[in-house]
Amino acid sequence: MRRVHRRTDKPMTGPSERVYNFGAGPAVLPEAVLREVQEHLLALPGAGMSVLEISHRSAAFEEILTSAETNIRALAGVPEGYHVLFLQGGATQQFAMVPMNLLGAGATADYVVTGSWARKAAAEARRFGAVHIAATTEPDGFTRVPAPAELELTPGAAYVHLTSNNTIAGTEWPEMPDVGDSSLVVDASSDILSRPLDVTRHGLIYAGAQKNLGPAGVTVVIVRDDLARRAPDGLPTLLRYDTFADSRSLHNTPPVFAIYVVALVTAWIRDAGGLDEMARRNERKARALYEAIDGSAFYAGTAEPASRSRMNVTFRLPAPELDARFVREAADAGLAGLKGHRSVGGQRASIYNAFPEAGVAALVDFMREFERTRG
Ligand SMILES: *Cc1c(COP(=O)(O)O)cnc(C)c1O
Repeated sequence: MRRVHRRTDKPMTGPSERVYNFGAGPAVLPEAVLREVQEHLLALPGAGMSVLEISHRSAAFEEILTSAETNIRALAGVPEGYHVLFLQGGATQQFAMVPMNLLGAGATADYVVTGSWARKAAAEARRFGAVHIAATTEPDGFTRVPAPAELELTPGAAYVHLTSNNTIAGTEWPEMPDVGDSSLVVDASSDILSRPLDVTRHGLIYAGAQKNLGPAGVTVVIVRDDLARRAPDGLPTLLRYDTFADSRSLHNTPPVFAIYVVALVTAWIRDAGGLDEMARRNERKARALYEAIDGSAFYAGTAEPASRSRMNVTFRLPAPELDARFVREAADAGLAGLKGHRSVGGQRASIYNAFPEAGVAALVDFMREFERTRG
């Protein structure tokens, strides 16, 4: 099959052959960010040493941490009264930290189960207290998110947990549901900063950085101060939100390099036009792919149209053998990482903020060509 994209025009003086990376995470980073990291890897301007070598107590890192926090605050409109924290342990650690900190004795937490990650979050919470499943779309194979009217919320729940974008199933909440007086806790790992949001409607937002924010190794948590203060006395220091809130994420050594890249990625988002511009680009990319899927009898989307994700576009070919062949030939053509999660099968094109529009156009071309020659 014709190579639709390999940058073979560059001399082989380094890792210059970048393919289009549709992987779900760790995922594509803005090329400009990678170049800046490369340029400054030996010596950070002003510091005389690599970002991999600097002290987390140095002035240079202070500046990095401040800019990561300031950028996120400005982009997401994080108001006073909310902390922006940098933790480790991934989103999976938050599955435990959320109930450990927020689910007091005798209280109930509501969970909306819309995919594998949401199910794991609910299972982890059960280790710490009472969990009520406010809605689940598991009987529908997680092909949709529930309508707000389907939520059976517990009056006085400690919080309501949901997953804003279901990375595996390829579904996304079009907007956050109203949860009344409860605090909304959102796993936004795969769509954070992909569109404007109203932080004040949330109690806590968490995201492993490796999809939309940076490299693996840091988890961003945006949490309202009263929730950050709810930890019971016996909770270990590093599992308490107040530890990170009170030390500005510097109680112990934070993941310095990952935070550095988050600072660069969030500056890149800002310079590109902020969340409104990200939303426009993500909308355009997703629309182009869904139009290619819907405009063909060969490809079939796996998510219900009203619940479709703008971040992870899932679709299938008419037979598993064709799916396998598509993944192989696409990879040969420089379109990497399209194999769907084993629980869904088919294809998954992850097209996060940093994924270029030209890569989507290349995939659409490849899909047409594959259908014409193999369909
Ligand atoms: C990737 C992902 C996770 C797991 O993240 P880790 O950082 O690997 O723990 C959790 N939730 C969602 C929505 C994800 O996409």
